[in-house]
Amino acid sequence: MKAVVDATKCNAYGTCAEICPSVFTLDEWGYAAVAGDGTVPADAVESARAAVADCPEKAITLTAA
Ligand code: SF4
Repeated sequence: MKAVVDATKCNAYGTCAEICPSVFTLDEWGYAAVAGDGTVPADAVESARAAVADCPEKAITLTAA
């Protein structure tokens, strides 16, 4: 599973990085990006799904790859 952040939607709330810090990082302005290539470690799948659900801008997508 991989995570993707749509930078055109992200509004720098930072919630994703709080919920799932092993997958989401924030830049100095608080905008999110994925760590590395976005691969979600097995032990972070649940928190990654929670980050998707809690993103106010619906900017995060999880893909099967
Ligand atoms: S929760 Fe959504 S809007 Fe907030 S930083 Fe993460 S991707 Fe951006």
